Amino acid sequence: MTTAVREVSVFGDGIAYFNEAADLLELDSGMRRILTHPSRQIIFSIPFQRDSGEFEVYTGYRVQYNFARGPAKGGIRYHPGVTLDEVTALAFWMTWKCAVVDLPFGGGKGGVTCDPSTLSTNELERITRRYAAELVEVVGPDKDVPAPDVNTTPQVMAWFMDTYSMHVRQNVPGVVTGKPLEIGGSRGRVEATGRGVTICALDEMKQMGLVPEQTRVAIQGCGNVGLYAAKLFSERGCKVVGISDVTGAFYNEHGIDVTGAIEHATKNRGLEGFKGGDRISNMELLTADCDVLVPAALEKVFTVENASKVKAKLIVEGANGPTTPEADRIFKQIGIVGLAEIMAKSGGVTVS
Ligand code: NAD
Repeated sequence: MTTAVREVSVFGDGIAYFNEAADLLELDSGMRRILTHPSRQIIFSIPFQRDSGEFEVYTGYRVQYNFARGPAKGGIRYHPGVTLDEVTALAFWMTWKCAVVDLPFGGGKGGVTCDPSTLSTNELERITRRYAAELVEVVGPDKDVPAPDVNTTPQVMAWFMDTYSMHVRQNVPGVVTGKPLEIGGSRGRVEATGRGVTICALDEMKQMGLVPEQTRVAIQGCGNVGLYAAKLFSERGCKVVGISDVTGAFYNEHGIDVTGAIEHATKNRGLEGFKGGDRISNMELLTADCDVLVPAALEKVFTVENASKVKAKLIVEGANGPTTPEADRIFKQIGIVGLAEIMAKSGGVTVS
């Protein structure tokens, strides 16, 4: 993998980390070849009708990276940035995440390249049902089990499960995790990923001598993972000084009222207009004064451009692949401790 490719490829970042670990383990070349190639990559068209009556076609993906430890397992992402490269990287990381916490699953991931903020609920349902129908032969409790990820909710999982069940002519709740409790979802699943992030962070903070009551936390991305992490950090006595989402970032050195921020974000579909802190840019949040920084949005957040400006002592990866290998080297040089996402974020799949 050349440096040039690594700069643009998310999967390339994953392979760079893999090679470092494989060198340390003195892994033989055959095993390296197997583990750096996805088992199966599926790309398909999703034609659907908009509410206006017009037809649209989106692209869907599912990557089943590895089945050695069990059925593939991993979320479905709805986002304009979804590509085959990104989905492959996410499936690759799921493989390691399941192995790190010793779950009997391989790694998988899927997605649709779309902007859900421009879609009605009915359009989202039609896209999800078509996405599920395209995958009927290759998913299932013993084959591949999808779950929520960015912009996919328990409702999306319910549509997926219903469509699959209709095709196979029986009720199959085990085809997805992260579904609503009423149809067999697991209690605690919604907050599980954020809870896992907080548990790992508090444990590492103890080792570093950071007392929760004197620890300032900033969180990038206040969706499912970030919001619950913020809530739990604050419940454990930490001061949440920074939060952000795609609409903007807010900083308050005296501590943000997390409950108020959650209420605001839920009511307004984002933090835009939140009055509990100073408005800063998303980039400023990453380099803001804090002790613990939790990236909980998307990949490639820390790069050579910003890594040396980060002030946090501890980074707990709440998103997939937020740290590029180049930034990781800088963090090591300046003594920032990083908790890798394949462990820090494993709470969701563990509860599933
Ligand atoms: P989500 O859609 O609920 O939330 C994502 C959040 O990130 C939103 O608040 C969005 O506004 C924000 N965001 C997007 N771009 C941003 C930017 N440039 N700056 C600041 N904020 C931005 O998604 P989620 O489920 O919370 O997923 C977040 C991360 O956690 C992803 O990397 C996902 O793969 C990973 N993850 C989620 C789960 C889960 O259980 N939901 C499990 C494993 C991994």
